[in-house]
Amino acid sequence: MLKSVHLFGCSSGFVSNLLKPNSIVGFSLTFISSKRLSASSSLCCSSLRLSCPSTAPLFLAPRTGSFKAFCGSTCSEANQDGTSSSPLSMSESPPPSSSTVVHSSSLMQEKIRNIRFCQWCGGQTKHGIPDGEEKLRAICTVCGKITYQNPKMVVGCLIHHDDKVLLCRRKIEPSYGLWTLPAGYLEIGESAADGAIRETLEEANAEVEITSPFAQLDIPLIGQTYIIFMGKLKKPHFSPGPESLECCLFPLDDIPFDSLAFSSMLVTLRLYVEDVKAGRIIFHYGTINKRPGTGASDIHAYTLDYHLRS
Ligand code: ZN
Repeated sequence: MLKSVHLFGCSSGFVSNLLKPNSIVGFSLTFISSKRLSASSSLCCSSLRLSCPSTAPLFLAPRTGSFKAFCGSTCSEANQDGTSSSPLSMSESPPPSSSTVVHSSSLMQEKIRNIRFCQWCGGQTKHGIPDGEEKLRAICTVCGKITYQNPKMVVGCLIHHDDKVLLCRRKIEPSYGLWTLPAGYLEIGESAADGAIRETLEEANAEVEITSPFAQLDIPLIGQTYIIFMGKLKKPHFSPGPESLECCLFPLDDIPFDSLAFSSMLVTLRLYVEDVKAGRIIFHYGTINKRPGTGASDIHAYTLDYHLRS
């Protein structure tokens, strides 16, 4: 609690983004940049009379880009791609190409073929298309039941506080060291909203109240659906959970778009920034399709299709 109270005690986004509580007795500075910064960059540190080890831990972003809030005029502006204000709409976003659909289908078939044992009895499976169906299935050779592969639901929170959004830097793979909204897989027995609240508590030790749904984003290629809620902090406290290296509130102009973990987070935050600039937060539905031939780690290589707003 003390750690997060101190974070909120910082009067500016510049200060609060620089400070990372790493112990109960003091602070160190974490510079989040594609460049190694010298200790002389820590102006806010000395002004606040906080401990500033000269060998403060540094995070070297694997992608290009830097953040104005952290490095002031010595670094370049945030990547323009990440802060694009060009609106996406149904008319501007074509449906997924047939090659994307075929690619998705072959991946799903591969997933089905990798199901070797029945989820119900443990018997061996065979693979085929059952009568009345059109898709390849894994069918148990013992009990005859089908083990289906269905999309996973990921739920999370977009927490806004003092015109900033809360992001967590991942302490786990995939995308270790990159930034994300607090989010994770929905558990059996919980609602999407409850799951988003739980994930936020787990990843950011933050108690939040859901205020509205913000986006549903389907990613057919990997069989995931994201539901992101708007939320607000019940108390002005947060700190890294076991799966986070750190948690920070980012002013919208300083969101690290080039160091985000997933396309879904990139899309969500872009839409949110656009909405804020437009003066109205609305609900978005869309389908994220990877551009054929691009790698999974290239989070910018996507199209947002079927973008609907309400
Ligand atoms: Zn079986």
